[in-house]
Amino acid sequence: MLHANDGAVDNVALLAALDDALGSTPGVERAGPASALAHEGSTVRVTLRDGSTRRAQHVVIAAGAWTSQLTGLPRTVPVEPVRGEMIGFPVAATAHCIYGPGAYVVPRPNGRTIVGATMDRVGFDARTTSEARSRLHAAVARFLPALAKVAPDSHWAGLRPISADGLPIVGPDPRWPALIWATGHSRNGILLAPMTAESVAGCVSGESPRFDLSPFRPGRFE
Ligand SMILES: Cc1cc2nc3c(=O)[nH]c(=O)nc-3n(C[C@H](O)[C@H](O)[C@H](O)COP(=O)(O)OP(=O)(O)OC[C@H]3O[C@@H](n4cnc5c(N)ncnc54)[C@H](O)[C@@H]3O)c2cc1C
Repeated sequence: MLHANDGAVDNVALLAALDDALGSTPGVERAGPASALAHEGSTVRVTLRDGSTRRAQHVVIAAGAWTSQLTGLPRTVPVEPVRGEMIGFPVAATAHCIYGPGAYVVPRPNGRTIVGATMDRVGFDARTTSEARSRLHAAVARFLPALAKVAPDSHWAGLRPISADGLPIVGPDPRWPALIWATGHSRNGILLAPMTAESVAGCVSGESPRFDLSPFRPGRFE
């Protein structure tokens, strides 16, 4: 099936653009990492690992797979790290994203092709493995023979924040309304980033959300 308008966001370029935007926005302080949270009146106090603290009218939890490592949270949310590995090839092999058995292929505009992805529950171990590299290469070679004889020249791994029901956890905490959750995006955090960002901004500014956040409510695991 051809989805002629299917596209792909370059996540590395996206995060570099976010980094630039934050760096050139007045009033943004970048500090961290955070270690603990506490409820103080209608605010939330965050203690950083260096021992310093910040207090805010709104605090957004966006720690991905590491969410459960924060202490003092008003609830435990079932978000686990699931490692995903990908490989990259120094050639252009397709003009479109292709989903095939055991692998998917994404063309990059710079004449490269990337192939993903594995799913392994190995805790916080984000190392790559030669087994995954071979498995992905063999899988893609079966439906895209152009890549069969090309050696991958890059290989990386990341930890997805997989929630117990696979859905994101987005919205204010029922116990601490000043605390806004934005985690558990599982396999779709890049795809859903605009929706999550708009929803979180709405929670902070008090605007009515444009999206129905009820399937993603933080209290649903109780
Ligand atoms: C191989 C692979 C392929 C993927 N492919 C896709 C795809 O095709 N489409 C898609 O939509 N999604 C994809 N994903 C999933 C996507 O990457 C995640 O859903 C997304 O990154 C989640 O975003 P996040 O900001 O919640 O968490 P992360 O991107 O994990 O960011 C969390 C951040 O919090 C920081 N942090 C952790 N602890 C603390 C702390 N205590 N204090 C301060 N900061 C902290 C971390 O350093 C990190 O920078 C893929 C993931 C992997 C691994």
